[in-house]
Amino acid sequence: MVNPNPSAEFIERLFWLIKLRWIAAAGVLLTILLSSLGFKFFLPLLSLYTLAALLVICNLIYIILIKRFGSACRMLESAQADNDELFGAMNWIINIQISFDLFILIALIHFSGGIENPILFYSIFHMIIASILLSRKESFLQATFAAALFGIMVTLEYFGVLPHYCLKSFVAVDLHKNLTYIGGISFVFVTTLYIAVYMTTSISARLRQREKTLMEANVLLNEKDRSKSEYVLRVSHDIKEDLAAIQSCLEPVEGGITGELNPKQLDLIQRAVHRTTKLLFFVKALLEATRIKLSKEIKMEHFSFKDIVSEAVGQISLKAKEKNISITSFVEPSIGEVRGAKEYLRETIANLLANSVKYTPREGRIGINVTDKGNSMLIKIEDTGIGIPKDDLPSIFEEFYRASNAKEVERDGTGLGLSIAKQVIERHNGKIWVESKQGKGSTFYILLPK
Ligand code: ADP
Repeated sequence: MVNPNPSAEFIERLFWLIKLRWIAAAGVLLTILLSSLGFKFFLPLLSLYTLAALLVICNLIYIILIKRFGSACRMLESAQADNDELFGAMNWIINIQISFDLFILIALIHFSGGIENPILFYSIFHMIIASILLSRKESFLQATFAAALFGIMVTLEYFGVLPHYCLKSFVAVDLHKNLTYIGGISFVFVTTLYIAVYMTTSISARLRQREKTLMEANVLLNEKDRSKSEYVLRVSHDIKEDLAAIQSCLEPVEGGITGELNPKQLDLIQRAVHRTTKLLFFVKALLEATRIKLSKEIKMEHFSFKDIVSEAVGQISLKAKEKNISITSFVEPSIGEVRGAKEYLRETIANLLANSVKYTPREGRIGINVTDKGNSMLIKIEDTGIGIPKDDLPSIFEEFYRASNAKEVERDGTGLGLSIAKQVIERHNGKIWVESKQGKGSTFYILLPK
């Protein structure tokens, strides 16, 4: 499958058609009103208003059908089942919609002057829509259907089987029996239909081909990115194992278990332990980021959100105390139990809080506030820290990105924490963003579905 979500795109196009039909219905009503009031055409108003009402009713029915189609698609997609049959059925419905729209247009034309009414050429819009939504063959069939409907209307009016409603103040003489006029208009009308379909289908075929090529390239890029991530995962896993082994060898030496060290030896060992710890921290973060990127699904469970907030606050409280930073936390009681990846969410909140502690000077303040927003909740983490420079704000959630002022305050940092947080939140269909003023503080927001 080339398109990652074809049903969503298809539904979007169907709603576009619905929107166009609302505009058409409004246009029809306005035209009937204006022409009956302003031009005094003496048209069969009841028939015209009935047709406009039919257009509105059909549109409402189509909306119901599209919504049902959308939920059926979502069900099949979540069950990873094939929904080709559903697409086939919907294609039929589009064909019927366009044919019926053409029928209503020709009926409107019949009740408002027949061949004398230039609105006839509005059927080109139907041809353009058909060419965008349907196959080339189906679009030509729609053009043939429009030409046939037009031909039937003109013939029946010509032989008097159908009455002719002349647009008297618009045309000087009654034209529906004038064979030269009928021949000329029919020729231009029919050729215009076919040329419009030919041109639009050619353009949309070219665009579809280009879109397909781009999507294929995108799939290829994603595959390459995935194999790169798999490589990073393997390498960082091996490095982590070795680093952990080095650390476990260095620690007893630093602690004097293997014999007393002279000050020079102790200094060197302490530096080695510090660097190893720092590297291990970085490799673990890299491993975590890559793991989330590669995991297709994350384990979801029900848990109390208030509990994970207190746990996350507990995780950083010691460091905050060392800097005399006050932490306040509030979770709206109505939030209660939520469903999500508990460990990941706790780590994300702990990470954001740890950043606040890291980038807030002594005696500062940090607050975490969780408010109920119905189906979702808003988590707000604010601090009175160094803030983020305006220029750095757009890149702050990118991997390895660190703002210039952060590097001055804290030399050690991976630049991975926020990118992991973003991935975790997006996996929950949530949103994360930040508002910050350099020197004043930062506020991180997370909108998370419950
Ligand atoms: P790290 O903190 O290890 O550098 P993160 O990915 O957690 O990496 O954060 C990325 C960058 O975002 C930080 O380097 C810093 O510039 C900025 N940042 C994150 N949180 C804060 C905060 N609370 N206050 C100021 N800057 C922050």
